Amino acid sequence: MGYGKKIYEEARARLEQSRREAEDRARLAAEAFYQKCPEAREIKDQMGANAARAARAVVSGGDVRAGLMKLRDRGMALQAQYEELLKQQGLTPQDIKPRYACPLCGDTGFTDGRMCQCLKRLQRNLAYEALNMNAPLGKSTFEGFSLDYYKDDPRALRQMEGVLSACRQYAQRFRPDSPSLLFKGATGLGKTHLSLAIAGQVIEKGYGVLYGSAQTFAVALERERFDRPDPEAPTDANSQLLSCDLLILDDLGTEFPSQYVNAALYHVVNSRLLSEKPTIISTNLSMKELESRYSERFASRIAGFYGMVEFLGRDIRIQRRTAR
Ligand SMILES: [Zn+2]
Repeated sequence: MGYGKKIYEEARARLEQSRREAEDRARLAAEAFYQKCPEAREIKDQMGANAARAARAVVSGGDVRAGLMKLRDRGMALQAQYEELLKQQGLTPQDIKPRYACPLCGDTGFTDGRMCQCLKRLQRNLAYEALNMNAPLGKSTFEGFSLDYYKDDPRALRQMEGVLSACRQYAQRFRPDSPSLLFKGATGLGKTHLSLAIAGQVIEKGYGVLYGSAQTFAVALERERFDRPDPEAPTDANSQLLSCDLLILDDLGTEFPSQYVNAALYHVVNSRLLSEKPTIISTNLSMKELESRYSERFASRIAGFYGMVEFLGRDIRIQRRTAR
């Protein structure tokens, strides 16, 4: 998945720094070793000269086999001597080699011409940081979701038991082509809590999740607007919204109203439906209100293609306050 050019460059720069630090540390360790053991440096130089001779022998052609065998034996003897000197200093060959954060790619970001997992992971983390979204994930888990608040209303309790188990299942069975959902219901019924719980589990499964309030997204989109006035033009925020495995748009309808953001949101919702990527939207607006605030086509996409999840009950925050 693509996170945009800025994220990619930042990730490459961080890997590059990590690689340079590993190599600097290795160089310092080797230098310290040679200080204590100057003989090792001479052997190292001889190893280099030996390898160069072997290379020349190959290039010169003719019957080089015997000569090469001799050079190989000599190289192995030098290597053994060198390791013996390391051992005398209480070191292993690894101690003077760079220790890369990612042994797969040596912190270059690529193995066999393909992007390494570490570079993908780094980009994902940076994307989260950039939109400042992973902060509240730890607090909102399925285990921490209490049905006690719905106890005094049997209908709400039954409904919310169903909602909780549906959300758990959704997270457990998440795939990049899972259905989109609309969390509907008044403020304070646990919509944010359960969408964060889903986000947490889906991230743990290794998928790229973007979570944010509609307000946060609106600000990110507006910030980039001045570079590219077309709401459908690819920008960093926009391309992340389109390409992440799961997009969670919390509290739709609470963002500052703007034609530009409305157009961009429609584009995101519609494009993700077309590419069969799941989105979870939570809102306390009714379908009618969604229609009048955004557009008929926006509301009809959601009514037609999103699974409806109805939250019932009394505002948990008010219940907590009165219980105190
Ligand atoms: Zn790597």
